[in-house]
Amino acid sequence: MSVVVPTSLADALRAVADDPDAIVLAGGTDLMVEFNEGRRRPSSIVAVHRVPELSTWHHDPVAGTLRIGAGVTYDEIERDPIARWVPALSQAARTVGSPQIRHAATIGGNVGTASPAGDGLPVLAALDAVVELTHERGVRLVPFGDFMVGPKRTVRQPGELITAVTVPVLSGYQGYTKVGVRNAMVIATASVALVVRPGAVAIALGSVGPTIIRCHDAEALVSAHADFEACRVSDDVVHEAAELVRAAARPIDDHRSTAAYRRHAVGVLAARLLRRAFQ
Ligand SMILES: Cc1cc2nc3c(=O)[nH]c(=O)nc-3n(C[C@H](O)[C@H](O)[C@H](O)COP(=O)(O)OP(=O)(O)OC[C@H]3O[C@@H](n4cnc5c(N)ncnc54)[C@H](O)[C@@H]3O)c2cc1C
Repeated sequence: MSVVVPTSLADALRAVADDPDAIVLAGGTDLMVEFNEGRRRPSSIVAVHRVPELSTWHHDPVAGTLRIGAGVTYDEIERDPIARWVPALSQAARTVGSPQIRHAATIGGNVGTASPAGDGLPVLAALDAVVELTHERGVRLVPFGDFMVGPKRTVRQPGELITAVTVPVLSGYQGYTKVGVRNAMVIATASVALVVRPGAVAIALGSVGPTIIRCHDAEALVSAHADFEACRVSDDVVHEAAELVRAAARPIDDHRSTAAYRRHAVGVLAARLLRRAFQ
C-alpha cells in the first residue's frame, strides 16, 4: 500500500490527479473505523492533514461570507471566532463525538463521508453552503443541496479534493439540535438545523432520509406567517410547521431507531428551534 503525505495543496492535487482511486485521508475518524473493520481495503492513500492551505479559514466582511478549509477541525469550529460567525455550525460541532474526536475530525471529512447523520451537514444545507471541489485542472463550486446525492454518495469526481465550504455570515437566529440514544458521544437518530434570514427561514433535517432534507413547505409557512420585526410566531404556525417537517421526513427503521420515532422527533426538534428563534 502506498501512502503519500503532501505538504502543499499543489502536491495534494497532483497526488489525487495521478492516482484518482487513492483514498483521501484527513483526520481519519471515519476512515480508520472502516479500515479497522475491513470495510475498506485501500491500495493507496493521500493523507492531507499536513496541507496548510486546507486548515485555514477566511472571513470576508464585505461579501459577508466565511470560507472554511476542508481540513479545519470541529475543535476549531466549536470555538470563537467561527462560533460567533456561524453559531449553528458551532453548536453542531460541539455534538460531534468527544473532544478527542473533534480534535482530529475535519469538516471536509464530515462532508466527504456524506452520512445523513453527519452533524455539520444539516447546518450547511440550511445555510445554502457552497462546497468547493478542486482538481488540478480547476475549481467547481457546488451548492450543498446538489452535492449529496444519496447516503454516503456525492458528486465529487475522482481526482477532486474537497478544498473548502463557504457559508454566509448572518445576523439572525440559527440553531442546531439532535437526539440520539444518549446525551454525548452519539450519532444523531434525528437532527434539525434552523436558520433565520430577514423575511425567510430555512429548515434542514438529518438522519431522516437518504440525504439531508430541506423542508420547503414548512419554510414557506413560517416565512409567510412569522413576524420577523417583532420576532414572533403563533403557536398554531409552530404546530403546523412541525407537522410539515414530519411530512417532509423520509425516515427508515434501523439499528439506531424506528422511522416512527424519527418522524415524531424531527417535529419536536423543529418546533423547539422555532420557539427559540421567535420568542
Ligand atoms: C468515536 C466517534 C464518534 C463520532 N461521532 C460523530 C458525531 O457525533 N457526529 C458526526 O457527524 N460524526 C461523528 N463521527 C464521524 C467523524 O468523526 C466525522 O464524520 C468527521 O467529521 C470525519 O472527519 P475526518 O477528518 O476524520 O475524515 P476522514 O475519516 O479522514 O475521511 C472521511 C471521508 O471523507 C473523505 N475526505 C476527507 N477529507 C477530504 C478532502 N479534503 N477531499 C475529499 N475527500 C475527503 C475521505 O476520503 C473519507 O471518505 C464520529 C467518529 C468516531 C470514530
